[in-house]
Amino acid sequence: MSAKYTAEGSVWINEGGRIVCRDHGGSYLTAAIVKGKGPHIFTPLEDWLYHPPEVAEHYDFNCEDCGGRTTHRAGKGGDDE
Ligand SMILES: [Zn+2]
Repeated sequence: MSAKYTAEGSVWINEGGRIVCRDHGGSYLTAAIVKGKGPHIFTPLEDWLYHPPEVAEHYDFNCEDCGGRTTHRAGKGGDDE
């Protein structure tokens, strides 16, 4: 239920250097995060490493899909967990 590696502003980076927020790493990564796995997650396809908000901020890492970082969607939205 409670995922650990979901800090607001965090990102995930894979072995190829692709940077994503928690929503854009693909279903395998998203599912693993929801299960509380991390900070190093191996999916059948890729190898992801969690980067906390302070690191993402320092290096200006942003998701390649949405241009942002992990956000909490709890509350008002219709698509939160
Ligand atoms: Zn994203």
